[in-house]
Amino acid sequence: MNIEILTLFPEMFGGVLTASVIGKAAERGLLDFSVTDIRTHATNKHRKADDPPFGGGAGQLMTAQPIFSALRHIGTDGKRLIYLSPRGRLLDKVLIEELAEAPRIVLLCGHYEGVDQRVLDHFAFEEISIGDFVLTGGELPAMALIDAVCRVIPGVLGSEASHAEESVYSGLLEYPQYTRPASFEGMGVPDVLTSGNHRQIELWNFEQALRLTAARRPDMLQAFRDTHFGELDKQKKRILETVLQDQTQEPIL
Ligand code: SAM
Repeated sequence: MNIEILTLFPEMFGGVLTASVIGKAAERGLLDFSVTDIRTHATNKHRKADDPPFGGGAGQLMTAQPIFSALRHIGTDGKRLIYLSPRGRLLDKVLIEELAEAPRIVLLCGHYEGVDQRVLDHFAFEEISIGDFVLTGGELPAMALIDAVCRVIPGVLGSEASHAEESVYSGLLEYPQYTRPASFEGMGVPDVLTSGNHRQIELWNFEQALRLTAARRPDMLQAFRDTHFGELDKQKKRILETVLQDQTQEPIL
């Protein structure tokens, strides 16, 4: 997968693209990044890339010329063009899995009050938001998108870890987990986890995931029941029914 980033602040991407899981995936050739500094494509004397909006209003807008030139320089054919924007479609697991299938994506990071609309219209950018809040620039949203997309690309997480078992992707929120030592400052861990009984551990984890999801995301629990009930074994079906029943009897806070 090839990801091209257009930004006024290329220095923000250094650590993110080279460290940890993303850095390793890039080293192994699973991903390929390039970061273009939009300002270097400005043709005016001072490489200015922003101006006040026509019609007034607060702040500055990123001007069309440097972005048009940068896009023409990298080329847009066959690429999915994405503008990070609070006006966009909300990023969720469905969209992330869809993006992970795209061989080439371009991420345009806005700054100030955003970008001249003609950029978005001319190149037919799709807009993607990472949540109903406003950040200073599109760089952090782009990093969040890249991180989330990378994790679902086959081979990136390695064989021992799978995104399909994690919160949200499994259809449930993840159960609580503990690691050594078994006793820390007087706090133990649930006995079942050190019992060595794999089936009991699996059922305990399943029940905890259900209860946590019931408490925090009842909508998700209902969707899980509707889509996965038929796939569960008898014991898990019983646990799910019990949790759903508890949920209707008294609210879990
Ligand atoms: N004036 C814009 C508006 O009201 O929609 C917000 C501009 S914001 C201060 C500057 C830039 O940050 C945007 O152009 C966009 O690239 C990015 N941005 C801010 N919040 C975002 C979000 N929730 N999701 C994605 N990008 C965001």
